[in-house]
Amino acid sequence: MDPVVERWLHLEDDVLGIAGHRDRLVRTGSGAGGVVITAPHAVPHVRDGVTKRADMWTGGLALLLAERTGATAVVETSGYGDPSWEEAHPFKDAVAALAPAVVLDLHAMRSAEQVVEVGSGEPAGSPPTELARRVRDALDGCGIATLTDHRFPARGATTLVQWGRGRGIPAVQLEVSVRLVPPFAVEGAVVRLVDGLTAAVAAARP
Ligand SMILES: [Zn+2]
Repeated sequence: MDPVVERWLHLEDDVLGIAGHRDRLVRTGSGAGGVVITAPHAVPHVRDGVTKRADMWTGGLALLLAERTGATAVVETSGYGDPSWEEAHPFKDAVAALAPAVVLDLHAMRSAEQVVEVGSGEPAGSPPTELARRVRDALDGCGIATLTDHRFPARGATTLVQWGRGRGIPAVQLEVSVRLVPPFAVEGAVVRLVDGLTAAVAAARP
């Protein structure tokens, strides 16, 4: 197995192994003021009283990207509530405590396409933010197909993107198709995704 894929699976095991047992995993990279990668749906969670499935593999992916880039990862493992649906949530407090310069909010979506959707949080009809464009261009440059402000434009008031914007923190939402992650994608496609997201984190740095 490719070492990158193997590492992702190992980190995902770490996340799933403590699901429901701890509040969240925070793995600090190069310190305050940098890029913070959030995975609010890394384990099954509860939205309006209904249990929702995890965004597959996003917890391990956030940790992997942090390892590769020196960014910080915040991975929700409690399963308590929904950090990107509730206005106030301890997950958001944990992110705020890191004083991020930029937030990359990582999700996974069901999709038949091998694509990453970039949500800029801009109102309908407005061009995407400069941050969203930089992230999109980095993914495109690595051969990852993208759609910007398509199905997941991050316009909801409680999203991490809007939460960040309200605090002057540029933020972008990334919805990764499950067709790009193990076990649905072949190893080469998985490695390309990780390389593309690594480039996206670098491009997001202020
Ligand atoms: Zn999600």
